[in-house]
Amino acid sequence: MEITFRFKVERSANFYFFVQNLSEWEPWARLEANEFWRTSLAIPEDVIANLKDFASIHRMYQRPENFLGRWFFGYKDPWKQLRRSLRPKEFEIVRNAFSACEPFFNRLWIKEEKSLRKWQFILTKRAAELRLAKKIIPTLASLYGVRFTSRTVTSHLLLSAPNYLSGTSGRSGDASIIMEISRFPKDKPAAVLGLLWHETIHCLFDRQFKRLASKTTRKADGMRIHEIAAGSLFPRGPLGQRALGTNPPNNRYFRDAPGMQENLFGLMQTYIDQERALDRQYVKEVAKIKSRPEQSQGGRQDVDYTS
Ligand SMILES: [Zn+2]
Repeated sequence: MEITFRFKVERSANFYFFVQNLSEWEPWARLEANEFWRTSLAIPEDVIANLKDFASIHRMYQRPENFLGRWFFGYKDPWKQLRRSLRPKEFEIVRNAFSACEPFFNRLWIKEEKSLRKWQFILTKRAAELRLAKKIIPTLASLYGVRFTSRTVTSHLLLSAPNYLSGTSGRSGDASIIMEISRFPKDKPAAVLGLLWHETIHCLFDRQFKRLASKTTRKADGMRIHEIAAGSLFPRGPLGQRALGTNPPNNRYFRDAPGMQENLFGLMQTYIDQERALDRQYVKEVAKIKSRPEQSQGGRQDVDYTS
């Protein structure tokens, strides 16, 4: 089994990310980034206020099959695609939102592109050793009961607030992930590789397990079990620590409940040691750990934080 990682730096993907984030069309917009952009670029209030209409249109196109943003990832001409998939009036509003934001984005992009290219260089250099990842891929294959000969994962590198690192999968097309990375310190590549593997789990490994988990139990304390499983591996779970040298503390998934983190990591370690596939028993154990009264903590979903 091998995985080829590709790292892309695209202006259109970053431009989309900038506009949609400023519009705050979804509850998990990166507010740190908005604060940083609005201040450093002196974006006038009325430009932000005018994004409201764009935000309501985006909310109508947010399901995986009609996701408005997907055309900005890897398509040569997103506008040609958008013109086909939106009503004329909607298209015009989307287009105007981008035009109003463009001068600000351009100023930001000059600096951010350089930084993203550096990350692309650093990560591409590491990609050769990631390809076979002897310590990682066989373990994931056994945990999730997934086999393949070779796969390619495309990772789109995006803008971020200073010191910020986070990722998403499933929004930019099949087998592709998003990493917000531009202002994350370059001397911490282990954290970025941890994020990459975490998203790769969602991308290539945990689909079936997700189904099993949702059949077995409802959300455990606001967090989905497949998210807890991936977070118990990477970036800072036992597999991340062993294969990449990431540190156990400061994991935002579990940081409010240190005892819970140890229990969840310990449970995952048992499955790794016994070369067991994640099963109903695992799901039940996680739900049990999460439901202990001293450990109440919600979690945002589909959004992965590592810093
Ligand atoms: Zn995740």
